[in-house]
Amino acid sequence: MRGALGWVEFVDRWVPEPLHRGDPGVRRRARVIVFNVTVMVTYSLVRIVIELALEPFAAAWRGVIPLAFGCGAGVGLTAWLWRRGDAERAARAGMWLVAAVAVAFTLAKGGMRSPGLPWFVVIPVLARACAGSRAVVTSTGLVAAFLVGCSLFDLFGVELPGGPTGVQLSVERLVALLAATVLCGGLVYMHGIFEEEAQRALVAARDAATSASRAKSLFVANVSHEIRTPMTAILGYTDVLAEADLSEAERREAIETLRRNGHHLLALINDMLDLSKIEAGGLEVRCSETSPISVAQHVVALLRERARSKGLLLELEVGGDLPDRIWSDALRVQQILVNLIGNAIKFTERGGVRLLVSHQAVSGTPGEIVFDVIDSGIGIAAGDRERVFAPFSQADPSESRRYGGTGLGLAISLGLAEQLGGKLELESELGRGSTFRLRLPVGAPEGAQRGAPPPIDSEMVTRESTPQLARAALRGRVLVAEDGVDNQRLIERLLSRVGLELEFASDGRAAIDQALAAEHQGRPFGAVLMDMQMPEIDGYAATQALRDAGFARPIIALSAHAMTEDRERCLACGCDAFAAKPIDRRALLDLLAEYLAKP
Ligand code: ADP
Repeated sequence: MRGALGWVEFVDRWVPEPLHRGDPGVRRRARVIVFNVTVMVTYSLVRIVIELALEPFAAAWRGVIPLAFGCGAGVGLTAWLWRRGDAERAARAGMWLVAAVAVAFTLAKGGMRSPGLPWFVVIPVLARACAGSRAVVTSTGLVAAFLVGCSLFDLFGVELPGGPTGVQLSVERLVALLAATVLCGGLVYMHGIFEEEAQRALVAARDAATSASRAKSLFVANVSHEIRTPMTAILGYTDVLAEADLSEAERREAIETLRRNGHHLLALINDMLDLSKIEAGGLEVRCSETSPISVAQHVVALLRERARSKGLLLELEVGGDLPDRIWSDALRVQQILVNLIGNAIKFTERGGVRLLVSHQAVSGTPGEIVFDVIDSGIGIAAGDRERVFAPFSQADPSESRRYGGTGLGLAISLGLAEQLGGKLELESELGRGSTFRLRLPVGAPEGAQRGAPPPIDSEMVTRESTPQLARAALRGRVLVAEDGVDNQRLIERLLSRVGLELEFASDGRAAIDQALAAEHQGRPFGAVLMDMQMPEIDGYAATQALRDAGFARPIIALSAHAMTEDRERCLACGCDAFAAKPIDRRALLDLLAEYLAKP
């Protein structure tokens, strides 16, 4: 078996490299061509030598010409396969070539007395290998017809050039028989190898599909578990709130629990969206010139309070020779660092957390920026270090449960790091602490467009650091385009309390009509809150229609699709600002205050 496989490897060496990586059917045809041409050319050369040695030249040329033509055409065919890589057509051409040489040789060497007759047995086998099962039927019919025709020539005494006789015939027939047997046996053997390979590929594909399906079921089970946990608290505490004899302290506790679990649920949904986008390769990273120090400072400022409340020190150390700018996506780098430092704080009880930013030279490139997140926490055992990067995976589930978390953060961070062209590595010692190392390339890949750096202040940063605008500015009429009755009621509660006058529209068409009618009546709305997914006309079309009709007042998009591209789509269709659902009361009031205050 080893030797036989070695022989197939020999054939493979002559098959063009790209064909090995493409469609298995095309690769199979290319292997047949190479094998076929090798046997044909060897046979033809031997036969040419025999012809010239055994026959007078006047007779030899009749056999030599078709053989020499076959030889040349076979080599040409292989060259064509290398240039074009079209194994399908080359295989068909090869089949017709063998048939043509066999016919020409037979007619030139005595018809039914030709020494090359065994080749006709090979032709249907060759047709199967080169062109598939249907070609076997056609080629068998043609071969049978040709052989019957030759016999009829004999029968009716039609003169064909004389074939060899005696020793010459025996030698030539033996050589033809041997070559035909080798070609036939080789093709059948190769067919066996191809079948085994196809079988193995099939089994591998089945195993992959089974394990993908198992992974999906596990994923769904994990998601369900993670959603049910906060939902249990939310529904349970809703019942608690409905109890009549609740003390003020109990009421507050119930509300706080509802809020905490609601936020947890929202974070989980955002993480899962990110993860599914990363896994589908659809997460967009927007690279531009980014200051690594600013990103690090922002993240540390953001998390310092969290560390302090646990009695931990959070320090930033910046190495020398740091480039001012790197080519990366500031928001994504920030997302990774927030997750790594958040984990470091979470899993550390004593000591502190350090973020070390340094530059590492890499020959031939502008080098790498390295962010080391070093903690003195519980550490991760050697056997768990790979596992923690898988979704929903936690080093020690019982321990991690104590700290909370879903096991999605590192999977997302790893995916993001790779999407940014970098790496995320881990060094850790159980009980002594961990170092998560994020490496990012400094330079832009070739062809990247240089542009202005995006503002560092992500949603995360602005939410924590934007000072609240004065509520005194909240005066005016607001049109709320929202189809959900519960959401209408919630918005009414939130906004009428701060002194706004509200009017509701339950779909996009009503929103357009009401906004334009108010303009005509001289009682315009100060702003429109536009839900983007509504019946009749959605928020995008309604906004567009209002802008087309000359409506120039602020329109604030309100949408449960809260990814960056959703936000941009809203702004592109004419909205002035974007607020995500679930509604962040403070953020929405700030936005309204800002836009209502505009002249
Ligand atoms: P989560 O923190 O939500 O559980 P992550 O994917 O961020 O999810 O982390 C996966 C697991 O990796 C954690 O549950 C924890 O077991 C381990 N881990 C992550 N960071 C640290 C750290 N700094 N120290 C110790 N263990 C960590």
